[in-house]
Amino acid sequence: MSQTVITGVEVIKLNIPYKEPFVISLGVIPSATNVVIRIHTSEGLTGTGECAPFVTIVGETQETVFDYARQIGQMLKGRDPFALEDRLAEIDRAVQGNYTMKSGFDMALYDLLAQKAGLPLYRLLGGSNSREVYTDMTISIGTPEKMANDARAFKEAGFPAIKLKLGTTTAKDVARVKAVREAVGPDYPIRIDANQGWDPVTAIRTLNELAKYNIEHCEEPIPHWNNKELIRVRANSPISIMADESVFDHHDAFRLASMGACDYFNIKFSKSGGINNTLKIIAIAEAAGIKCQVGCMSETRYGLTALMHVVAARSTIVHFDMDSSMMLADDPVTGGIEYKGNGKWVLGDAPGIGADFDEEYLKDMERVTV
Ligand SMILES: [Mg+2]
Repeated sequence: MSQTVITGVEVIKLNIPYKEPFVISLGVIPSATNVVIRIHTSEGLTGTGECAPFVTIVGETQETVFDYARQIGQMLKGRDPFALEDRLAEIDRAVQGNYTMKSGFDMALYDLLAQKAGLPLYRLLGGSNSREVYTDMTISIGTPEKMANDARAFKEAGFPAIKLKLGTTTAKDVARVKAVREAVGPDYPIRIDANQGWDPVTAIRTLNELAKYNIEHCEEPIPHWNNKELIRVRANSPISIMADESVFDHHDAFRLASMGACDYFNIKFSKSGGINNTLKIIAIAEAAGIKCQVGCMSETRYGLTALMHVVAARSTIVHFDMDSSMMLADDPVTGGIEYKGNGKWVLGDAPGIGADFDEEYLKDMERVTV
């Protein structure tokens, strides 16, 4: 058996400004504050992962990720990187929650395993990379005029769908959707995301008023903890309900599926803990007849490339909200998915995740090596 061991782990803060501040019902975010994880092995391979913490949703920050990742890195030294299930179980036991931090290690370990196998990760997952993947584009909460202008611009840029951030009052949210619908015409796909901003009564009222604007689905209408009321919202909504903040890992997915609380899951590595748990969520979705969207927080093209490998291997993922890197002012990633215009992402065939961070971009960032 392999005598390969983990010889060191690097944890690097990665700060990238947004092109314009990102505004959702939970607050304003001026820049991405991510963390890069690099796992080095005794045979000279390096596995890379990216953590994209979003404090108002996951409760993790760049500081907490950096601190815990250093501790986890210390723990992993000397261990077999290819016994991925064992390593992930150890990481899971070492710290409760903190799935964004864990997702960076999960990604780096999968990157190593696929490099060792000499396969692009999607092949290791049994995929064919034959799917055409077009991301939607997200529009921050704003005035109806600003959101309508953004929507028109994104439609003209070729994106196949737009996602509107909502979650304030019925009157304001309906005015936003009305303006956008008038700007883009009757058939252009519009999705909405309330980010928990409504109470159940407001959600039911608003969703019924929005039905005439031809909405594909609505993400997380009410507070994430209220699964019981989500059942009622879904039962009284003419628009399909997608669970996002209420589905972090496979345990949440099982509970929501059992309760009949949603039509879709929105899966993000920052919530699920990475690829391993994402595959478990997808298995539950398949068993329950639930379709999935994949989404992102503030990932660069690196995190999105890792996500794309899963997309290329699982047809239960039918919606793609993979636009975070387009909102960033810089692209610090080499290799990885390529943007072909009109929302289209294309994945290559390099072994592993097949992307890396540009050392030049990282050289002035704070880092720790254990
Ligand atoms: Mg969402």
